[in-house]
Amino acid sequence: MRLSRFFLPILKETPKEAEIVSHRLMLRAGMMRQEAAGIYSWLPLGIRVLKNIERIVREEQNRAGAIEVLMPTLQLADLWRESGRYDAYGPEMLRIQDRHKRELLYGPTNEEMITAIFRTFVKSYRSLPLNLYHIQWKFRDEQRPRFGVMRGREFLMKDAYSFDIDEDAARRSYNRMFVAYLRTFARMGLKAIPMRAETGPIGGDLSHEFIVLAETGESGVYCNSDVLNLPIPGEDIDYDGDLTPIVKQWTQPYAATEDVHDNARFESEVPNDKRIHTRGIEVGQIFYFGTKYSDAMKAMVTGADGAERLIHGGSYGVGVSRLVGAIIEACHDENGIKWPESIAPFRVSILNLKQDSAETGAACEELYDKLNAQGIDVLYDDSDQRPGGKFATADLIGVPWQILVGPKGLAEGKVELKRRVDGSREMLSPADALARFAA
Ligand code: ATP
Ligand code: MG
Repeated sequence: MRLSRFFLPILKETPKEAEIVSHRLMLRAGMMRQEAAGIYSWLPLGIRVLKNIERIVREEQNRAGAIEVLMPTLQLADLWRESGRYDAYGPEMLRIQDRHKRELLYGPTNEEMITAIFRTFVKSYRSLPLNLYHIQWKFRDEQRPRFGVMRGREFLMKDAYSFDIDEDAARRSYNRMFVAYLRTFARMGLKAIPMRAETGPIGGDLSHEFIVLAETGESGVYCNSDVLNLPIPGEDIDYDGDLTPIVKQWTQPYAATEDVHDNARFESEVPNDKRIHTRGIEVGQIFYFGTKYSDAMKAMVTGADGAERLIHGGSYGVGVSRLVGAIIEACHDENGIKWPESIAPFRVSILNLKQDSAETGAACEELYDKLNAQGIDVLYDDSDQRPGGKFATADLIGVPWQILVGPKGLAEGKVELKRRVDGSREMLSPADALARFAA
């Protein structure tokens, strides 16, 4: 992509409505625009990151055996009357009437709809276990939308729903999602820690929130610092095998949210020098809720003995759009964003430091063509900005690698390769620079 042809509306001024760094940087880097409180348009740089996050979430859900579907954003109120949540949900639910005066709502979550799908089609234990997920916009009319995409009203969520014949099988499904979440967040360059959590309006008796530690986070967390150094399961993880040892390992060191925090236990189990009490951002939450929805909505299957049974369910959310902000909170410096490579909007940017020079122009064009031919996402800054402006833009938008092409270096057959994450630089030939990005 040539910057001169791209749409990157960078702001010079720091927007004063933005309270936290990720919100400021997303606005300054032209990633999104607020359309109403907690409702955003995603601009080209922002949507590239959002799609990359979505891709990792999808790959890890698929790997763990979950199957993708897509449910609508609008749901019938009557469906929610079946579970009793239509009245219970309160003012966070956006209620809508169509021209026939039918009551609808913009879905804040999908337990009811997925249970209705399940009971229509699945009749036998032989179809279990089943885990269905989708990645879809949700609406919650939050009292205080703030911090940009971190607490929006309309936001993108991955939500998965598991169906099992009994509690043991349901716990195995829970463990699969637990492990999939460890892998998902690690692939995005995050340390997201599973914390024991309250179940809230979803209901049920077992839940973990996955939390990225950050001072600006809205959740209070207590944990043992050991949990920060546990190994992440590899890509060869066997999801059909016994995952309890992994889950045990991650749930052993004390880690809990404020709601369920037990001070006596914390102090008896965690030595003084390992106690962390800080704040964090909830990027995902998983629940086992047993027969709560299957009971209310009569979702039954026939067991091996021919008897009808209520299925045991769980639900598993990831805040896909919130993650964009959470990753920036974790990965930035005073000059801008430092994207982890796996989700960066572009992998490399080329900066032409003398736009009116035929030599630098030709060298940049050649690098640009060859990187494109190698299938590398590359942004070529061919704008009329002065070098200082190009450096500032590149640092702000946080592309992991910058290739600086200037007349002095070129005279010696060299370009400069700068790594955004640590600012390290080296001079090398254009061919060597290209080789760095070969598969
Ligand atoms: P919170 O406690 O932050 O309000 P929640 O517990 O109500 O979130 P869940 O129902 O667990 O949210 O939804 C799954 C995930 O969706 C959350 O872990 C979070 O990452 C994300 N999420 C929830 N509410 C919002 C929101 N208003 N804006 C952006 N993402 C959100
Ligand atoms: Mg939650």
